[in-house]
Amino acid sequence: MTKVIRFIRANLFLIMVVMGYGGLMVINPQMSLQGIKNSEYYIKEMLMIMPVIFVLTALLDTWIPKETIMKYLGKEAKVKGTFLAFLLGSISAGPIYAAFPFCVMLHQKGASIKNIVIILSSWAVVKIPMLLNEAKFLGMKFMIIRWIFTVISILIFAWITQKIVKDEDLPHREEVAQKGLFINKDTCMGCTVCTKKYPDVFTMDGKKASIKAYNDLDQQLLHKTIETCPVKAIQYNE
Ligand code: SF4
Repeated sequence: MTKVIRFIRANLFLIMVVMGYGGLMVINPQMSLQGIKNSEYYIKEMLMIMPVIFVLTALLDTWIPKETIMKYLGKEAKVKGTFLAFLLGSISAGPIYAAFPFCVMLHQKGASIKNIVIILSSWAVVKIPMLLNEAKFLGMKFMIIRWIFTVISILIFAWITQKIVKDEDLPHREEVAQKGLFINKDTCMGCTVCTKKYPDVFTMDGKKASIKAYNDLDQQLLHKTIETCPVKAIQYNE
């Protein structure tokens, strides 16, 4: 019984979606089938894109030092940080959900909440390829005016968000002082990469990774797994 309750709690949103489709199937079967087809399309797209995003995020995390992120995107970066955040979001490619693990990594390395909002918002609405298409279909004047007002709105929303949302409200890396292997459950996004890389040690417990009972650890494989975690949720203190 407890297992069933735990399963329902962990998958509440999914269950609600399935029930929604079920209800719609009774009222309007055609619309429900169209909805299922659309969901299938997006799930396939995510399955193709997300592994690449996780690997790229992990590589950037390894290559770019924390000091660099703090200097250029941190709270002290001021106008320089705002400009860089706009640039990063505008030149990006791919769907907006691909930006989330990337932004988690940037925030954990010192990027400010204001700059995270700017990256996400410009990724969603002022991407350069999108602007070119907009100018082609709706005209240059429309595109420029919309761009100016959108950028002003993004700056205002970013400022307000920074006032309301604190750094502690976002998933953060908790440094654990005791020895051993740990997973920061707040940070883990349940991508299952670790369970595929090192299945003898990592498993999924609902939507989060957890650690199996282990005797010996293959140090090389463990460090590779730690490096591949896109949000650096795995910590190992020898
Ligand atoms: S701990 Fe495992 S499941 Fe969680 S984010 Fe890292 S690699 Fe993905």
